[in-house]
Amino acid sequence: MVENKRKTAKEIIEAYNGPKLRIMEVCGTHTHEIFKLGIRNIIPEDIELISGPGCPVCVTPVGFIDEATMLALDHNVTICTFGDLVRVPGSEMSLAGARSKGAKVQIVYSPIDAYEYASEHLDEQVVFLSVGFETTTPASCLSVKKAKAVGLKNFSLLTANKTMPSAYKALKGSADAFLYPGHVYAIVGTKLCESLACEGVSGVITGFTAKEIMTALAVVITKLQEGGSFFKNCYPRVVTPEGSKVAKAIVAEIMEDCDSEWRGLGVIENSGLKLKEEYKEFDARIKFHLPEVKGKSNPACRCGDVLQGKCKPSDCKVFGKGCTPLHPVGACMVSNEGACSAYYQYGGNING
Ligand code: SF4
Repeated sequence: MVENKRKTAKEIIEAYNGPKLRIMEVCGTHTHEIFKLGIRNIIPEDIELISGPGCPVCVTPVGFIDEATMLALDHNVTICTFGDLVRVPGSEMSLAGARSKGAKVQIVYSPIDAYEYASEHLDEQVVFLSVGFETTTPASCLSVKKAKAVGLKNFSLLTANKTMPSAYKALKGSADAFLYPGHVYAIVGTKLCESLACEGVSGVITGFTAKEIMTALAVVITKLQEGGSFFKNCYPRVVTPEGSKVAKAIVAEIMEDCDSEWRGLGVIENSGLKLKEEYKEFDARIKFHLPEVKGKSNPACRCGDVLQGKCKPSDCKVFGKGCTPLHPVGACMVSNEGACSAYYQYGGNING
């Protein structure tokens, strides 16, 4: 009797033979892992892996950097920030440039570090640059809750927090299916992805190991060949239908939806989060009466197109020449999760 042997994920991927499929890895960590693990080397030509807008530093608009440098230089505020943001170019300068002009810029690893810095430096006004998706927003909310509880007056947030569901709708049509980042959906749960599938947006949630990513790609390829929109949770050991109730509760308590500007995608309705009215004393824009700022990005930079999967980083004229990790022109080359940085580190001429 001949045994009906099931194909491995690698076999399913390697056996694929047209029509052309476009699969977007939304999260920058996936982009880097796929390069690092050599998965692109086994992807057939008919499958194009494209990088999406899931890197928080990359999607933060130029105007946000301008607001931060304005706070640091014009309002003598101490900026607390994740390290990646320091070298992201603003319209005229980065935070590193502002620091060379005397601005106080502290690198922190979490919003709670910024809260603690403010508690220990009561003579300084401290602003934390609150960027990130569903994974990092709960900690920002916790820092504000703690600050309010103890009546801390010298701490506030400059918010650019984003949520992914509306961005997927804006990206609809730019890929045949999405690889959804497992850490985000560990917080938000799977219901959103299920509803996206009902609206024609297909995707699978996956983790970050070679086995998990390969399995997810094999599932995407199989499901796309079957036809129709779909959703599959390929990371069930971490992602549950409900997500993290605790993390969602603190965000719902402190923040509310707002429209948000994304680099390259423009303003997307209800795709961001801002502090609620009862926490406005911790909103740096209100506290320091910041004017509305329209940032100007370098015209040579194609980060916007890269983030929408309209071009590969290596299609940008200054990639690897005028723009390198040491001398970045755009955010996608600065961030550890950026697509341009991944292409630069792991080989910009790799197909797809
Ligand atoms: S290579 Fe540099 S300039 Fe070009 S899109 Fe990427 S970050 Fe922008």
